[in-house]
Amino acid sequence: MNENYNVLNLPDEMLHITLMGGQAKVLMCRTTAMARKAAEIHCPSSTALAAMSRTMTATAMLGVMMKDENASVTVTVAGDGPIGKITAVAHGGKVKISAHHPEADLPLKKDGHLDVGGIVGHNGRLTVIKDLGLKEPYIGQSQLVSGELGEDFAQYFTVSEQQPSLVALGCLVHERYCLSAGGVLVQAMPGCSEEMLEQLEFRSVFFTAISREVADVPLEELAKGWFDGLNMEILSREPVCYQCDCSREKMEKALIALGRKELTQLIDEDGGAELTCHFCRTAHKFTKQDLMELMERASQ
Ligand SMILES: [Zn+2]
Repeated sequence: MNENYNVLNLPDEMLHITLMGGQAKVLMCRTTAMARKAAEIHCPSSTALAAMSRTMTATAMLGVMMKDENASVTVTVAGDGPIGKITAVAHGGKVKISAHHPEADLPLKKDGHLDVGGIVGHNGRLTVIKDLGLKEPYIGQSQLVSGELGEDFAQYFTVSEQQPSLVALGCLVHERYCLSAGGVLVQAMPGCSEEMLEQLEFRSVFFTAISREVADVPLEELAKGWFDGLNMEILSREPVCYQCDCSREKMEKALIALGRKELTQLIDEDGGAELTCHFCRTAHKFTKQDLMELMERASQ
């Protein structure tokens, strides 16, 4: 089955499109390599991988929507399903993710699909924190609708950001391997005509198998077909990827922030420390000597 997909080895990228002179805007992306990287790091079950991939795809969309280079967006999906809390962070199109229980799994649904709604949970909250580098971050929240994530993000945009939106997110998985992943976000802008809304609604059926659609067709070609006759204009295209920005320096800061008392305890009882990043599983090791140097820099 694997060789049937992504034979062209198409890159992960995000297209930003407008329709009918700006009446609607569209983000569409392929996130296959991103999902594969997450699978490599977190070793999730097939169902958990689909949930994580869909969350990353939506987070990448939120990330690229923030124009400022230093801005970041953190998405948490806290449902009552067995995967537990999912946290994804994006700086532009660079995304990283962690989940409490990536190993959790559920049987397939009756229709043969992965039970993403079940593993995330049907009840809970979706929280979006946008850090624009100002004092106060913007925090938006909405209730989960189904846990399938596409609907949940649509609800978030529509209710919390008051931006009527269609969202389709998909990840095609075969035995814990992502064959193809991607998503589409369509937003009606203020002044969007009734006719245009009808057109968007009508064309939303094209997005139902989004993960298959993006597998072996360039995004631009897909968009031309989907939005034929709607005066489609591509504003930008940019790469998206999995990338963790953790560093030894950041870990040092976290250790210093623990304070002298905790550091002394680490030195005396453990003789050092090893901090593992939740997002990339890199272990950062600190010897007794390292910790003593950090202690000098701790204010209390
Ligand atoms: Zn990391």
